[in-house]
Amino acid sequence: MTHRKKTVPQRMCVICRNKVEKRRLTRFVRTSNGVFADSTGKQDGRGAYVCDAAACRDRAITTDVLGKALRYVLTDADRQRIREVVAS
Ligand SMILES: [Zn+2]
Repeated sequence: MTHRKKTVPQRMCVICRNKVEKRRLTRFVRTSNGVFADSTGKQDGRGAYVCDAAACRDRAITTDVLGKALRYVLTDADRQRIREVVAS
């Protein structure tokens, strides 16, 4: 990595696969206790980002795309927890 320019950090949303400014994304991380929102963005573990588009947040809960990105099968408890995060 070079530091020629000051750039806004971007990450890819796993749902729409667009590159989005990091502050508009929620990072989800797979832990031994399930999938959690990572508010610090620094938690260890396999992570995946979902952007703030309503359609992406909806699909993060209703489809298996987020789970696949995390190489994990979301449980009902995980989906409920994700729903609470993205609804707030
Ligand atoms: Zn998205």
